[in-house]
Amino acid sequence: MKIQKITRHCIPLLAVLAVRWAAFGADTDTNKIDGFRNTPMLPGSQWHVHDSDRPQPPVVTPGASFSQSAPPPSDAEVLFDGTDLSKWQNSKGGDAAWKVQDGYMEVTPGGDIRTRGKWADFQLHVEWASPLPATGSSQGRGNSGILINDMYEVQVLDSYEAKTYPDGQAAAIYGQSPPLANACKPPGKWQTYDIIFESPRWDEKGDLVKKACATVLHNGVVVQNHYQLIGCTDGISGVVPWGTLSKYPAPHPPEVFIELQEHGPNPVRYRNIWIRRLGDAGPP
Ligand code: MG
Repeated sequence: MKIQKITRHCIPLLAVLAVRWAAFGADTDTNKIDGFRNTPMLPGSQWHVHDSDRPQPPVVTPGASFSQSAPPPSDAEVLFDGTDLSKWQNSKGGDAAWKVQDGYMEVTPGGDIRTRGKWADFQLHVEWASPLPATGSSQGRGNSGILINDMYEVQVLDSYEAKTYPDGQAAAIYGQSPPLANACKPPGKWQTYDIIFESPRWDEKGDLVKKACATVLHNGVVVQNHYQLIGCTDGISGVVPWGTLSKYPAPHPPEVFIELQEHGPNPVRYRNIWIRRLGDAGPP
């Protein structure tokens, strides 16, 4: 009888402890920011790189669909139509090996994938969905990214009712520019990025004469408005160590590839990816 009494009291207690341990282990605290105050100051700003105290961008509920499932314009090159990865490769030039099923590709362990083609100035349409059920917190919650030339990142992250340092949330130019608004949809829902990007240019002496420039619409909401990048994203290219101030790399050709990031165990999905080369309007 005594053993039964002990068991009756202990089982509920153990169950509570197990649930709390699981929650701690899974680290799903959506208020956790994990930012920094000991990193360099961003130029022209009162905030540090990955600043935990920087105000969270205002939340904007996007319209239901905007460019979701948008058919490509006639002059677009389709990079992924939901069936195969023939336009993509791994970082060593081999075939891309991410999972493809049911009209989407999914981030798969083994590294980032990048396009075989390159473009200088372009309009890029990408659809993505963060994992459902959502797990993790801050930068560990659905992290992936659009890494232009493996140098300039438009962050992909589950920022729906989930905090992180603002220059690292969804649609941030990572480590440089928080989005003007948080227009995230819930985990598992398809979201759109429409990105207009202009590559940096150097003159024949190697001097930077034009900074890279990005305009980004997230689910139809302008979140980067002709933002001029201060350089390479920290932590992805080897040019700028993580947590340090961005700077430009040695001159590179304006033609750049598009890369999708594998950032740890975050099975983010992508679909309907197409790109338009921005034409030369000719002499003024
Ligand atoms: Mg990322």
